Amino acid sequence: MSATKYIFVTGGVASSLGKGIISASIGKLLQARGFNITIQKFDPYINIDPGTLNPYEHGECYVTDDGKETDLDLGHYERFTGIRTTAYSNYTTGRIYQSVIDKERRGDYLGKTIQVIPHITDEIKRSMLFQGKRSHFDFVITEIGGTVGDIESQPFLEAIRQLKWELGGDALCVHLTYVPYLAAAGELKTKPTQHSVKELQSLGIQPDVLVLRTEHELSQGLRRKVANFCNVAPTAVFQSKDRPTIYEVPLRMQEQGLDAEILRLFGMPVGETPGLGPWRSFLERRSRATEEVHIALVGKYDLQDAYKSILESLSQAGTYNDRKVKTHFVNSEKLTPDNIDAELGAMDGLVVCPGFGQRGTEGKILAARYGREHDVPTFGICLGMQMMVIEFARDVLGLDEANSVEMNQSTPHNVIDLMESQKNVTNMGGTMRLGGYPCRLREGSRVRAIYGQDEIRERHRHRYEFNNDYLADYERAGMQCTGVNPDTGLVEIVEIPTLRWYIGTQFHPEYSSTVLKPHPLFLDFVRAAMERKAKA
Ligand code: GLN
Repeated sequence: MSATKYIFVTGGVASSLGKGIISASIGKLLQARGFNITIQKFDPYINIDPGTLNPYEHGECYVTDDGKETDLDLGHYERFTGIRTTAYSNYTTGRIYQSVIDKERRGDYLGKTIQVIPHITDEIKRSMLFQGKRSHFDFVITEIGGTVGDIESQPFLEAIRQLKWELGGDALCVHLTYVPYLAAAGELKTKPTQHSVKELQSLGIQPDVLVLRTEHELSQGLRRKVANFCNVAPTAVFQSKDRPTIYEVPLRMQEQGLDAEILRLFGMPVGETPGLGPWRSFLERRSRATEEVHIALVGKYDLQDAYKSILESLSQAGTYNDRKVKTHFVNSEKLTPDNIDAELGAMDGLVVCPGFGQRGTEGKILAARYGREHDVPTFGICLGMQMMVIEFARDVLGLDEANSVEMNQSTPHNVIDLMESQKNVTNMGGTMRLGGYPCRLREGSRVRAIYGQDEIRERHRHRYEFNNDYLADYERAGMQCTGVNPDTGLVEIVEIPTLRWYIGTQFHPEYSSTVLKPHPLFLDFVRAAMERKAKA
């Protein structure tokens, strides 16, 4: 077994260039060559994890199966490669400091003065190597959040500098930058890239591979120029041009030989280029799927990244149904009985989105009602499922003031209640019901048929639950609790079997849908939406 190789992915010039997609693509390409890989992310912000962050700050919070709230890039890693990330796949500055400070309090440092170098950097290095030490990986890919030059990222870059030195030929750095096009001059400009590489060099890191993000084709001459200015081999300069879908990126990188160059730089045999057959078939199918199916995303965050995994799951499910899913964001705060027909009338399916807090919940309840009364396929996820339950209580069970205690602590009908285990929680960070839990599916139910198995495991992120005191009333009136946690009896899935497709899940199926293994619930939901469209 040869030593684990470490690939560090840094970014320069600007943020949002797609480091996560490049990291995931490198992982995918090496994995296709038969290597065992993992991908991890180090984020320079001080929050211990993104669990307490508003989605406007940092987009969706992605949850690992082992119950860690993490950066949304981990979602890309899983969707591209099918690997399962863990609690050790995402660190922040806060988490690193917390562990150093805990050690200091325990007296582990034997009276030493604790400093950024070496204590913080040692902790970063230890964490960067941890997964590779715990189990064998041929490659550990480490993405560094933020942009080179940020004050916050300096300890991480110093750790990489040291590791590159210590690991020698077993580590390399891929630097992603941006080449802007100046329309007035009609020219692509490499100067920002040169500056960003200089910045990295001034921190003692020589990048081995450059990936240049661009909106226009970069000529060989331009790539040679960049190579020349940046001490990088011309064969190690790649372009990442805007693509209609992020799922094309691995193919475009493979065509240019990014994975082969990485192997050469590590002194490893390059071998045959893998065909990536299933991935290509997915993309071909995707490009052939032109007929649209319209899905409303009813939520309160008017921001793509806030519902990243849901959007990706829907779009994957569209491809496998030979359709193009067009999602329409519908702001639940602005939804009223007067405009709901105009907003949802043309939709083939509705997703009632997850969320926290009171804002926008009455709009979600209206959407759940609209889906039920008009028999539009409706998928409620987490808070969305809770809103379906509340809507049903108010309109069918006649409990006008039914609510979740999250929205109204003194509701006379707490159909959604705070979990017993949550009642004494005072600390908000990392204390929800998080990660994968088993769920038993009722024989004969819709979900049982969709999953094709009687026990599943799905990821959670919530504090409130269906209140089982009302279970019999719901069942009698036609909303069935068809998924239940076998250990605790907590309701995980509700459905109305007399409708076309009306399912709410307390868990988040979107976290586990991948390109090559789309999630059955999303597949079936999109299928139902298509079917309704065909009949309409
Ligand atoms: N706010 C709800 C709860 O905590 C739902 C959370 C969610 O949608 N992820 O239970």
